[in-house]
Amino acid sequence: MTDAYLLTGHVLTFDGDPFVEPLDTAVQILENSAVLIEDAAIAAVGNAALAQGAQATRHDYTGHLICPGFIDAHAHYPQTAIIASWGKRLIDWLNTYTFPEEMRFGDPVYAQATAERYLDLLLDHGTTSVASFCTIHPESVDALFNAAATRNMAVVAGKTCMDRNAPDGLRDTAKSAYDDSKALLEKWHGQGRARYAITPRFSPTSTEDQLAALGALWAEHPDTLMQTHLSEQVDEIEWVRGLYPQARDYLDTYEQHGLLGERGLYGHAIHLEPREIDRLREIGAGLVHCPTSNTFIGSGLFDLMRLAAGNVRTGLATDTGGGSSFSMLRSMAAAYEIAQLRGTAVHAAQLLWLATAGSARVLHRADEIGSIAPGLAGDLCILDLASTPAITQRHARAENIWDSVFPTLIMGDDRAVADVWVGGQRRS
Ligand SMILES: [Zn+2]
Repeated sequence: MTDAYLLTGHVLTFDGDPFVEPLDTAVQILENSAVLIEDAAIAAVGNAALAQGAQATRHDYTGHLICPGFIDAHAHYPQTAIIASWGKRLIDWLNTYTFPEEMRFGDPVYAQATAERYLDLLLDHGTTSVASFCTIHPESVDALFNAAATRNMAVVAGKTCMDRNAPDGLRDTAKSAYDDSKALLEKWHGQGRARYAITPRFSPTSTEDQLAALGALWAEHPDTLMQTHLSEQVDEIEWVRGLYPQARDYLDTYEQHGLLGERGLYGHAIHLEPREIDRLREIGAGLVHCPTSNTFIGSGLFDLMRLAAGNVRTGLATDTGGGSSFSMLRSMAAAYEIAQLRGTAVHAAQLLWLATAGSARVLHRADEIGSIAPGLAGDLCILDLASTPAITQRHARAENIWDSVFPTLIMGDDRAVADVWVGGQRRS
């Protein structure tokens, strides 16, 4: 006897990338439709689900939007407890808030407690997958992957590597970064739903020797991911220029050390040079837009429409705790506002795609998560489109389905998350 569930409601489906293909063919909402889940996976969608799901246990989400679970493509789970800390820009933010907190993750008990709390917060917000930085401590990686395994969540993570410009107690070496990362990826990569990302924090906190060692490790394990930061703030770019006088630009500090690749994830990427954009497009590397962080830390306005519509692969993220919310709905709202400041209105369909299929593509997991289609994992977020009095009165005036969804993207938060499914099971 298999577990079979028929979820009825409006269903969000994708048939392409809405930044480069016509919106109405790339993204659709099947109104008053259904999703059939059998065992851990999506078995059928739409009329096929209704036809095949007569015997399945029904879950009635009438009027709600059944979405793929949100995918946060760049976050720092060790910063959970310092989210919304006041008044600093990037370098001061790291020194004042981040590094003292990350120091605590050498304690496996503290790391485990934070990892558990963090993943519960993600699920509360409808996020079923994340790519997270850990700290330099291998214990911090074990903690997150263990907590993810308990919840059956598809998580990408890696030990953050830093061997300069970080305080005592938060520095490794080129050799220990290589050795620890290698041991962790051999332990976790492909274990259940865990995937490993080799994780140099960013060029300023690694020596050239360390970047080269991590580049060599990636070449030895090309099926792993690599995550880092790129061109977040203008001051940071100046700093990188001083530290790497031979590099053509910021991206080149990675490229010269074997850390530019299709499976690379480059967070922020706000102040890019034309060469960097061309190179990222050519390689098929993934950029990760972190809008609430970019406004909160004052980093700048990511050029979403130029990049995503220009065939540069792009995902969406919270970048907590530099980001100001665990919610991908808040990230979608901030992405909309930043694009408005750059003169373009992003469609609700594009925002939802970025937070799900777009992020899945940069994580190279689009065959598993990020869409509602037969064969993909049963990772779903059910959105109540009238979750608060303010949204309800606006929703009542909606003229079509997209007009009824958009207020929740702009005004919604964890109260809009009516239910979450992970690996074909409803979160209890
Ligand atoms: Zn970050």
